[in-house]
Amino acid sequence: MKFVFFGAPGAGKGTMASRASTAFGLQHVSTGEIFRAAMRDGTPLGLRVKEVIESGGLVSDELTIGLVRERLAMPDVSKGWLLDGFPRTIPQAEALASFCPEDYVIDLEVSDEKVVERLSGRSMCRSCGRIYHTTFMPPAKPGFCDDCGGELYTRDDDKETAVRHRLETYREQTSPLVQFYEQRGTLVPINGEADADSVWAVLKGVIEGLLAGRRNGSSD
Ligand code: ADP
Ligand code: AMP
Repeated sequence: MKFVFFGAPGAGKGTMASRASTAFGLQHVSTGEIFRAAMRDGTPLGLRVKEVIESGGLVSDELTIGLVRERLAMPDVSKGWLLDGFPRTIPQAEALASFCPEDYVIDLEVSDEKVVERLSGRSMCRSCGRIYHTTFMPPAKPGFCDDCGGELYTRDDDKETAVRHRLETYREQTSPLVQFYEQRGTLVPINGEADADSVWAVLKGVIEGLLAGRRNGSSD
């Protein structure tokens, strides 16, 4: 099964996709994480995207589409995938529909107020990428990852000016995708306002239902 996790920056896509990946054995593919790993390693890709990412803009469609196309052709995604952070523009959504169409788009609906609250407290592990929040999801030992002991850091694009730019970009270029996917009949809206365990409980039930529907449909 192929899922797109959709929503504003800070809606909880990475957090929920990570839980769903573990629970359902689907490969989590995050374009943001691919770019961050490239920046961390100082690769040509990382150097090319650093400035635009840190300012809160979007990497070009051409580059991002090419990267996702290659990633979704790899053997580890053959059993299904969860795309997190892609597509973010209409051309990206059209490209995905042409080379690897999604089954469902999980749309995490969260108010602007919550998104800002979540982004302003987010931290991430430098080694494994696990996501934390100072108030809502603190690590057991402040500053260090519960899973691997790695150092936690605040993303440069979670600073105030970049956050403002990212939210504008989301409104202008990404939110029209809601209508795009409504028209394709693949949009599954989920209320993402509650705490992470409550959102996950609902989402898990929804995904189980979709997977069961697919199994019943194919055995008929
Ligand atoms: P996205 O991938 O959509 O940008 P993240 O998954 O990184 O969002 O979540 C943004 C921040 O909000 C993180 O600090 C995360 O720990 C926190 N978070 C995610 N989901 C929830 C939730 N349902 N309630 C409270 N905090 C959450
Ligand atoms: P994310 O981790 O999803 O919040 O992404 C972090 C940043 O990476 C975004 O603010 C963009 O600059 C860049 N990025 C991630 N995915 C895409 C995409 N699909 N298209 C363009 N830029 C992207």
